[in-house]
Order: sequence, then structure tokens, then C-alpha cells
Amino acid sequence: MNNKPCCELLAPAGSLEKLRTVIHYGADAVYLGGKEFSLRAHATNFSEDDLQQAVNFAHARQVRVFVTVNIFAHNRDLGRLPAYLQRLAEIEVDGLIISDPGVLRVARQVVPAMSIHLSTQANVTNVESALFWQEQGVSRLNLARELTLAEIRQIKQAISAKIEVFVHGALCISYSGRCLLSLYLTGRDANQGNCAHPCRYDYRLQEEKRPGQFFPVEENGRGTYIFNSKDLCLINRLPEIFAAGVDSIKIEGRMKGIYYAGGIVRIYRAALDHVQQCLEASPGAPVVMPAHFMEEIVKLGTRGYTENFFDGPPTESDMCYSGAVVDQTYVPAGIVVTPGSRPLVEVRNRIRPGEQLEYMADDLDNVPFEVLGVETADGRPLAQANSGSQVLLTTIPEISWQSYGLIRRIHNGAGRGMVEKTAEGSRGKS
Ligand code: SF4
Repeated sequence: MNNKPCCELLAPAGSLEKLRTVIHYGADAVYLGGKEFSLRAHATNFSEDDLQQAVNFAHARQVRVFVTVNIFAHNRDLGRLPAYLQRLAEIEVDGLIISDPGVLRVARQVVPAMSIHLSTQANVTNVESALFWQEQGVSRLNLARELTLAEIRQIKQAISAKIEVFVHGALCISYSGRCLLSLYLTGRDANQGNCAHPCRYDYRLQEEKRPGQFFPVEENGRGTYIFNSKDLCLINRLPEIFAAGVDSIKIEGRMKGIYYAGGIVRIYRAALDHVQQCLEASPGAPVVMPAHFMEEIVKLGTRGYTENFFDGPPTESDMCYSGAVVDQTYVPAGIVVTPGSRPLVEVRNRIRPGEQLEYMADDLDNVPFEVLGVETADGRPLAQANSGSQVLLTTIPEISWQSYGLIRRIHNGAGRGMVEKTAEGSRGKS
């Protein structure tokens, strides 16, 4: 399902399973972190063996693998760095994502042939900055998130290095990912990959002589989420992003679950292909984005969406003051392990005979089906398959299943639910 587009679709891969899922749903490239030197200390980061497996799996499908080495390093971090970078080169990863000039300098010396991408944490907001990093040997820049479309276009026109832009995912109120809130309130340093996400907390006021009495600082009856940003979504701006010459669009979410990551990649794959087909059919004509892309995104859960700085500075309407709860109209039910007339499915949320589910096929094709029977892999019928088990499904209609394809069910009383349970990230960092 990998039609090669003129703009790369770059997807998060917080684990081997997520990597396989997002590649199945059409990612052209993935980014992931090793056990060291990567922000996202709480993602299921990759051991060296995992990294080798990831690269083998991806390269067999013509998908590139970029590895985050994007902490802001202290002197104590530097000793282990050269051996780690050499190991990444032996594993044949396709590029390093770096923020810290010191780490960049070491990489240029130790693995001079390796492509180096600048992380959004480096905060490139202007043409001179972009030229500076290009002169340091950076071949691709992930621009600061605080840029308008016009600024992105100007930078692209001024440099020869490639440009990468975040188009979708959780945002936080940090400046290009730099933030001291977590370290200050919880002792966990966001700039070392260990953010506790206190910007999502519900805040109260306490007077020092009345311990235990909390005074609400209310924006509404649900509480006060004063730092809680809506999620980024630029899907309806893809035609302009193409026209600006952006080389790669990036999706946030290394710590999200496979349903969210696979689902979002599936939508952006279809949207990118739509833009490309329109441009090929009628070069120069305006491209209209059908509403169903956004309708599909909403099914995956959201805090509400914002286009962030794309047209200018965000306002109050770009924040989510009503709380951390998100809308989710569907929940994941399983993932196909082995296709066939009776697919072997790993259950993510109990499955019972008689219920109606939906298969998330390629090209945004949603295939409803009924579960006729559930059996263990050795043929024992079950009244219910529980999360984590692997079972054979008999369905009507029969479906053209594919490995790593996702199955979901409509959420009971669809509308207000929690996002897929994960160690959820919220920064939009690379
Ligand atoms: S998620 Fe972002 S804004 Fe929130 S505490 Fe972490 S770095 Fe700061």
C-alpha cells in the first residue's frame, strides 16, 4: 500500500508492533528512539536488537528509519555517545534526529556519512537559522512549530536542505518542546525525555493556613485546565503544505497506541494520495479536501483540533479548558496477526460472538462485519475472547484481511470516552 508520494509521510514508531502497524497503513518513513539519548523516556524504546529488527522489517518494505538522539546532553552523557552512534551506523539506520549542537558535532566526527535531521527542539524559526544548520551538515530540518505557512514557504525557498513539518498530534504549551514545568512541579525533566505532563493536570488554589482545603480556579464546572492545548491537525491544509514544497509531513505520537498511530497514518496516507492524484489530474487547479478525512480523524479521539500557528498566533479557542477527556466514537478491538478465511486476531478489547465490528482496510475503506464465532488457536469455541489473547474469528462477510490490519467497535453511547489507554505523550516532539 506504499504508493510513493512526492511528500514523505513520516510516522511515529514507539515499539516494534507500532512500527509494523504504521508501515502497514502506509508510512514512507518512521522515527523511533533507542534506549539512550532519546526524548520520550517512557516510550517502549528500542534495544539494539529491536532496532536491527525494525530496520530489517522497514527496509524490506522500502521504508526509511530515523532514530532520535535528541536529548540536550550534559557532559556526563557524552562518553557513551560515540559507540552508540557507531552502532546505529552498523544497524544501517537512515538518519539521526538531533537537537543539541554538541551531539551534532560528535555525530559529524564519528559517523560522517550519516544523514542528520534537525529536531523541532532546535527551534528553527527563520531563514538565517536554517542556513546556519544547513552549513553544519544538516540535511533535513524539522521546523519550529511556532511558524506560519508563509514563514515555512520562505525558509524552504532559501535553503537546499529538506524541510519537515509536524502536521498532526498532541501539542503542549512548551516553546518548541522546551519546558521546565514538569521538572519544577514533579522533578521529571522534559528536556531529558522524562516529562510528567503536568500541563494536563486540573489545577486548584490552596491557602497556606488551611491545608486540605482546595479552592477552585474555575473556567467551568469541570475544573481548570489552564495549560491544556488542543491537538494539532493540518489535514485540510495539505494542499498548501505541498505547494510550499515541504518534503516530509510528520505525525506526533511515539507514546500513543497502535490504534491511534495506525489509524492516523491510514488517514494521512489516503489524504496525501488524494492530493497527489488531484495535482496529477489537474495541475495548478485548487485541491478540495473531502470531509471524510476529518470525519475519520474524529473517530480516533481528540481534545479538539487546532491549526496552531499556521495562520498566526493561536488564541484561547486553541486551548482545551474543558478537561483532558476526549471524544472517541470507536475503540480498538483487535489486530490481525495472520490473515486467512478465519484470521488469527490478537484481542485488544474483549470480542464476543454475535457482535458487530469494523475492519480498517486500506484506502480508508471501513468494512463492517459480524462475528459468527470465536475460537482458540487450537479450535476451542469461546463465549468471549479477552484482551491479550489470540483467537480465530469466523465472520460474515468474509474479508480480505491483512497482517497488522486493525479491528474496532463503535463506542457504547458513542461520543464521550477516554482515548485508547496508553502512556500517552503530549508534546509533539521528535
Ligand atoms: S507536555 Fe509539554 S508543556 Fe506539558 S509539561 Fe511536558 S513539556 Fe511542558
